[in-house]
Amino acid sequence: MSQIVTLEQLKQTLGAKLAAGAKVVAPVLDGEFASFKEIADVEQASFVPRICMQNSIEEFFFPKHETIFTFVRQGNDVVLNDAPDFDVEQIVVGARPCDAAALPVLDPLFAWDYDDRFYQRRRAKSTVVSFACTQSDAHCFCTAVGGSPENTHGADAILFDLGDGSFEVRAITDKGKALFDGKTTESDKVGKACDAPVVNFDVWKIADWIRANFDSPVWEQVSLRCVGCGTCAYVCPTCHCFDIVDEGSYKKGKRVKNWDSCQDAMFTMHASGHNPRDTQGKRQRQRLTHKFVIYPDKFKFYLCTGCGSCSRSCAQMFGVRPCLEALDKEVQ
Ligand code: SF4
Ligand code: SF4
Repeated sequence: MSQIVTLEQLKQTLGAKLAAGAKVVAPVLDGEFASFKEIADVEQASFVPRICMQNSIEEFFFPKHETIFTFVRQGNDVVLNDAPDFDVEQIVVGARPCDAAALPVLDPLFAWDYDDRFYQRRRAKSTVVSFACTQSDAHCFCTAVGGSPENTHGADAILFDLGDGSFEVRAITDKGKALFDGKTTESDKVGKACDAPVVNFDVWKIADWIRANFDSPVWEQVSLRCVGCGTCAYVCPTCHCFDIVDEGSYKKGKRVKNWDSCQDAMFTMHASGHNPRDTQGKRQRQRLTHKFVIYPDKFKFYLCTGCGSCSRSCAQMFGVRPCLEALDKEVQ
């Protein structure tokens, strides 16, 4: 038997969490667009599985802008104060499977050479509920990197839209079980995700080509239409580059982390004026090499869940899938 939750029961479950002081993040419609946002009322949320999102859930674990500590000068001393602590339970509902799958990919990074307590605390306090996909589009390629429309990697529970105002609930972890404990009813209805997106390239073979072709002219050729705007990095659930800067004055201020993008020409600019990645081809080579060679060599995961958000959001209709397809022609 399966476990079913109605839309009303789901709203009541989330409403009770809000009333208890938890932070709830869900897809929110803004005209024809949808973004993951913190909600104050369950009626703000859209509980329809969708693949086209303007952001990923990553920013609720690794914010775009975050204070590490504050500082104030007192006489000849500088006093440092930790950023305000947070210990708030967080429920992230409506994640795409390829959003949720990004979290286990990022976990080893934020616990590698430095334990990022901000990320780790949010991860520990969060329950992630994904929606199995009901459609894919030409940008999706989760199947090329080990995912699927009903992939549960990184999710505490996954919901299957039954199309009648209810969802089949499949709890994956104890957190997922706890969230829906006593909220579901037994049923013989079983949810089904959409068919897996069709992919005609082999990421493994392309990664081998990348390893052997650092100086290939192909990098510049495939990157001609990229304008280096960085949008692809900012919508990506796995991109995690950040810069650390001090804001304020020498008397008082704060040290902050801000998202950054390797597609920005200034990203590797040295104080001398020399830039080792001085063309867009070199910057795209870095992006693809990091995602499909360097990161998996170090952490065993591709730094990509095949969500397609980069190419879906790119004004030049580029992004990772078109780049992989262009490289695949070199592999053939
Ligand atoms: S691939 Fe597209 S989104 Fe990414 S930097 Fe280039 S133009 Fe911008
Ligand atoms: S690189 Fe593109 S397809 Fe891969 S996870 Fe990031 S946004 Fe999604």
